[in-house]
Formats: sequence, C-alpha cells, structure tokens
Amino acid sequence: MSGQILILSGPSGSGKSTLLSRALKEIDGLVFSISSTTRAPRDGEIDGVHYHFVSEDEFKKGIEAGEFLEWANVHKNFYGTSLIQVKKALGEGKIVVFDIDVQGFKLAKEKLAKIITSVFVTTVNKDELKRRLKFRATDSDNVIENRLLNAVGEMEHINEYDYLIINDDLQKSYESLKNIISSMRLKASGVNVHELLQTWIGD
Ligand code: 5GP
Repeated sequence: MSGQILILSGPSGSGKSTLLSRALKEIDGLVFSISSTTRAPRDGEIDGVHYHFVSEDEFKKGIEAGEFLEWANVHKNFYGTSLIQVKKALGEGKIVVFDIDVQGFKLAKEKLAKIITSVFVTTVNKDELKRRLKFRATDSDNVIENRLLNAVGEMEHINEYDYLIINDDLQKSYESLKNIISSMRLKASGVNVHELLQTWIGD
C-alpha cells in the first residue's frame, strides 16, 4: 500500500489541532507534516515540532528553490508544506497529515488529488469560535477579528472537502476522525493489484 495524505482545514480555534495531536499520539502510521511559517511562535509551541519557524527571507528563498508542495499567505503570514518531508513519508506508506488552509488544500489537490482525503473542521457557529479564540488568549482583539473574518471566507469552501466535522463534542469529533482514517485504510485505489493478486491466487 502506498502512502496517502489526510488534509485537515478549518478555522483556528475549531479544535483541529487538539483532534490532530490526539490522533497522532494514538493511531499508528500517521505522520504530521510540519509546516514552515513566518508567524511568531505562540507560548508552548516548539520549533521543529509544531512548525519550522523561519524568517520571511528564508521562506521566500524556499519558494524560489521549489521546496514547497504548496504555500499560502494566511493572516498576513506565510505558511508552507515541505515537499521532501512529504515524499519521504509517502514512500514509507504512511498517512501524512496536513493542517493547512483552504488555499493550500486547493493547490495540494491540483497535484495529488488521488491520494488526498480531506476534512473540514469547524465550530457550531461563529460566536462559539469567537469564545474559544478569546478563551485561548493567544491573540489580540485585532488578530481575533481577522481570524473570524477569514473563518467565514473558509466556510464557503466546505463542499470541496470530503468530510465535515462540526466540533461541538470533542470525543464524538475524535471518533469521527478515527473512522475517516480507518476508511482511508480500506480504499481500493492505493492497493498494488499485481502483488495482491499474486498472494490471492497463491502460486
Ligand atoms: P495558525 O497560525 O493558527 O497556526 O494557522 C493559521 C492557518 O494556517 C490555519 O488555517 C492552518 O491550517 C494554516 N496552515 C498551517 N500550516 C500551513 C501550510 O503549510 N500551508 C497552508 N496553506 N496553510 C497552513
């Protein structure tokens, strides 16, 4: 079986990262694609674990050198997915997990649609998202307003994703994500038919 890509998009504050970190801890064969970003680290974020934190100069050099599978400008910062890292994990037959925005999803889909399963995660409404962003207290009011505005724009693309998780109950949402991952493993499209047939015929 060759590798696959699982893309999770959705507004910051939707609980996407919480769902993802639990999945990465508990489910075998998943690898997180660590993006590069020019955004400053938040409290508790570790360079090389949550993101590769780079300068704008470094990021632009990376673009010129073709190091990104996709990249986008989100909330006035650059974010991008490293091509080398993804290729390696795919070659090892892993499910590579991308936490990327709608623009990045579209670019990745143009190149790798066949191996992508996509999920949009959001809150039950905008007020709930605002409450979570305020509770998190990592962003100023201006940044929060910008993120809310961006969230509305992203929600318009929900139909382009394979699955939607409305995260009003973390446990239920996690079960949904687990089921999606299980169904990815059952996809016939990634099976090596020749190898399977040899075993199946048995001589
Ligand atoms: P945050 O600053 O809250 O960590 O992320 C902001 C947004 O950027 C989120 O929607 C997240 O999914 C997106 N993002 C993170 N990494 C990447 C990436 O490599 N490429 C793209 N296109 N978006 C990303």
